[in-house]
Amino acid sequence: MNFCSLSSGSSGNCYYLGNKSKGILIDAGISATSIRKFLYDRDISLDSIRGILITHNHIDHIRGLELLTRKYSLPVFTTCKIRNSILLPHKKISSAAIREIPLMEKFRLADFDIEAFPVSHDAPETIGFNITASGREITIATDLGYISDTAASYIKKANVLVIESNYDEQMLINGKYPYYLKTRIKSDYGHLGNHQASEFLAEIISDNLTHICLAHLSKNNNTPEIVLETIKKVFAKKKVNLNGRQKITVLNRNVPSEMICLSEQNPPINLVLFQELEKREYH
Ligand SMILES: [Zn+2]
Ligand SMILES: [Zn+2]
Repeated sequence: MNFCSLSSGSSGNCYYLGNKSKGILIDAGISATSIRKFLYDRDISLDSIRGILITHNHIDHIRGLELLTRKYSLPVFTTCKIRNSILLPHKKISSAAIREIPLMEKFRLADFDIEAFPVSHDAPETIGFNITASGREITIATDLGYISDTAASYIKKANVLVIESNYDEQMLINGKYPYYLKTRIKSDYGHLGNHQASEFLAEIISDNLTHICLAHLSKNNNTPEIVLETIKKVFAKKKVNLNGRQKITVLNRNVPSEMICLSEQNPPINLVLFQELEKREYH
């Protein structure tokens, strides 16, 4: 099973998970053209995509959906409430293109066992996904104001975790956003801040969790360097020692991540915090 982020951040989110012949996308918040190109660059054809899982109706998660459903006839999977919240303002998306899935109940799509779970965010409904394939589990939890016990239970099962680290608390407080927007972002229906994410990770990290991808960074209230500094500090303060096989990556807002190959034992990573950061992408 291979996983990568095609784009992650407040401007657009899309993740790929697949094996040699079949794959799925989680969210489609960048253009269909970009998705097709990013996949093509990795020798993955759009024809191998069996469906798109959608977490909620915000535009940074559904931007490419119209073209992907109309031109490429890709089926979309999400809950009834999210389906309705997408169809109402997006009349060009055919209702037949979006299939309803249950909450907190496994369903199978191609080679993947998938379970959606609720998270707290300011959309009509927002969900995360836990996906099992080839005995490995990946959990995707972005766009959540806080981590409920339910969300935590799905996060703790993951071998690969994509978790939001949206904003630096000080940058948000001192930044230019209007008061109401700062309040919304910080609220239980907003986004996870760097400290929230890091402190939670310090509590739940285990040997099972081999990849942590810090995701959905704000363009204006965060930088990858600050995300890494925060997690380093929090882990040091809480005396969390990584076991040498755990990899922590900050997902780039505009550039696809490296492919994580989950069938292979991953090489030891010599501590801490790793990925080459392409600073220019964060200006
Ligand atoms: Zn979002
Ligand atoms: Zn959102």
